[in-house]
Amino acid sequence: MSPRQALELAQTLRAAIADERVLAAVASIPRERFIPPSEQERAYENVALPIGAGQTISQPLVVARMLEVLALEPTHRVLDIGTGSGYHAALLSLLADHVYTVERHAGLADRARATLTELGIDNVSFRVGDGWEGWADEAPFEAINVAAAMGDEPPRALEEQLADHGRMVAPVGTKEQHLTLTERSGERVRRHRLEAVQFVPLVRD
Ligand code: SAH
Repeated sequence: MSPRQALELAQTLRAAIADERVLAAVASIPRERFIPPSEQERAYENVALPIGAGQTISQPLVVARMLEVLALEPTHRVLDIGTGSGYHAALLSLLADHVYTVERHAGLADRARATLTELGIDNVSFRVGDGWEGWADEAPFEAINVAAAMGDEPPRALEEQLADHGRMVAPVGTKEQHLTLTERSGERVRRHRLEAVQFVPLVRD
């Protein structure tokens, strides 16, 4: 089902990503299905690309890195903030039990839902709404993935929806952003700052 280029993309990422499950997931998702016709030629380049509505599909290396940092298990329920094209959610769906993804643009959410259905992915639930609020009805989550930059601190609402020993990865910062891993242990929350990244902002309405 996945083209040879997806396998080659996974091979390119191997230099920076050690987790074989993440590389296998990248190799099995056809990224071109998440990309508008005008950008098709670049679908398997390791770059972020425009997907409409002023938004982008993230760079594959950064997506793979975020998947690796989450250390997902097949039993995990994952909250994904910023569905966008649905590419990141599709990869999460291969590594976890169920993905709950939230997007504020109804048009993007509809297109992502259609793409995942065409690919036969049936363990992703979609919601159009404000990602800052998470998805309280389905909490707690063993993992939370945030695909847009959050000001200087990850929002409390999301940290509160993390299960005990849950992990959240998010770009944090305004001018300069860093991937940030938040780990919850009981009532304690620990944050680790990782590499610098560049994401579109998580919009606050
Ligand atoms: N994960 C996506 C890329 C995300 S780009 C992919 O794989 O293609 C960031 C996305 O976050 C955009 O689609 C944007 O519309 C969405 N977004 C921005 N602010 C948001 C908010 N407050 N709540 C939900 N989604 C938001």
